[in-house]
Amino acid sequence: MKFYSAIFLLFVSFCAHAQVKYTITYLDSSSSNIQVTIKPASSQKAPLSFVMPRSIPGTYGITLYDQFIRKLTAVTSDGERVPMVKDAGDAPRWYMNDTGKTITYIAYEIDLNRMERKMAPSDASIIRSGFAGLLNYSILGWIDGTQLQPAECQVKTFDTWPVFSSHTPATQPGKGSIQFVADNYYTLADGQLFLGPRFRVKAFAAVVPLYIVSYAQTEEEYLDDYGWQGTYSMAILNDYFGEVPFKNYTIFLRSAIPAEPGNAPPFGMEHLQSSTFFGDVSAIRKTAMSEEQKIRTLPTFLHHMGHSFIPLRSYGDAYRPFVQEIAPVINNIWFNEGFMWFLPFDTLKLPAMRTRFENNVYRTSPVIKKMGLQQLSQTASTQYSVDFRLGQGIYSRGALMALEMDTHLKEKSSGKKSMKDVLRYLYQWSKKNKRPFTLEEFPTLISQACGIDLGKIYDKWQLSIE
Ligand SMILES: [Zn+2]
Repeated sequence: MKFYSAIFLLFVSFCAHAQVKYTITYLDSSSSNIQVTIKPASSQKAPLSFVMPRSIPGTYGITLYDQFIRKLTAVTSDGERVPMVKDAGDAPRWYMNDTGKTITYIAYEIDLNRMERKMAPSDASIIRSGFAGLLNYSILGWIDGTQLQPAECQVKTFDTWPVFSSHTPATQPGKGSIQFVADNYYTLADGQLFLGPRFRVKAFAAVVPLYIVSYAQTEEEYLDDYGWQGTYSMAILNDYFGEVPFKNYTIFLRSAIPAEPGNAPPFGMEHLQSSTFFGDVSAIRKTAMSEEQKIRTLPTFLHHMGHSFIPLRSYGDAYRPFVQEIAPVINNIWFNEGFMWFLPFDTLKLPAMRTRFENNVYRTSPVIKKMGLQQLSQTASTQYSVDFRLGQGIYSRGALMALEMDTHLKEKSSGKKSMKDVLRYLYQWSKKNKRPFTLEEFPTLISQACGIDLGKIYDKWQLSIE
């Protein structure tokens, strides 16, 4: 018995140490710099590489977060601080090639004001008086080779500042310093953090606990309608797919006066168990909305929460639900985005949504109409929101394809089958097979779902728009 418990204790202490330790520190309110350290589970002999992501799932862009890394140093076992060297071809990589040296941890700084000025609002972390809003992937990279190891993250800030993490959501967030664990670097990078006395948290009893976390720079926002919309979205998805894939869910709301005046469409961004909505202060909700307004403004919340299923847990082709060093060319954004815009239309039946899909497909630039479905998707892979005609074009073609398939399924089955069965089938298939589907097998999979052939409709939508 004693022997086994000793082994068990050894095992527990091994697990407790076999984690990559990340620290994020913000302790100087006169500066917009944050400090990051990354300590591998055990000291590493050089050479060692550090990588920043340039591809974030769902942004369909190239995010040059590596340009904000400053003072990147490797700290050796004898306390020496060795500057790491950026890749000569400007890959988002730095090297410590001093063979013979042992590296205990690496450290760097990021200037968030600079990031905010250079990036789209929905890609940037921000600092305001009494507030920091951090997208983990914008500030955290990985030591090459450690990205699949368990991760522990500590956030350190002023003693009076609450820290809310999407990994450990709480109505009374811990103050000053919090610590949490993630399966690996990728799930850590998927999270978001709000720091400071200027944000608010409100919890709602949905299918699983729902947290609305709000930072509104100019005045306090009315949160109950967001709570209602999140709760209702979760109920719709639970009915559609038969379950929800997360244990809790957080909606982050960030309404800030832009650092640079400019055109900043209010985008949302999906994550495994959260989503973040970015805007200026013009759309801050001051009072309760009417029922009609609540439904009319619901689709974006339902759409982004729906991404927790598709594509974050059911996906194909070159899309991956985690950050990458190099942005992939994706042939099926019409699936990721279009099928997940079809769902809010299918469940809320708002005629304005269908009109929008049709306008985006049939009344857009002739250059875009001339592109076949895969070509448009490839183009949108890195330009989805920089020229939003491309994003709107590709998601709307996907939504109309799903709509046509839905009508066909209902006709052939006398109303017994629909796209709901197809989406549920794909989600279950991904859960079981734990791999992306290929574009070759996709038409077979969707036809298998209801035993009704959807190949003709699928083929038709591959073509350019007449
Ligand atoms: Zn989307």
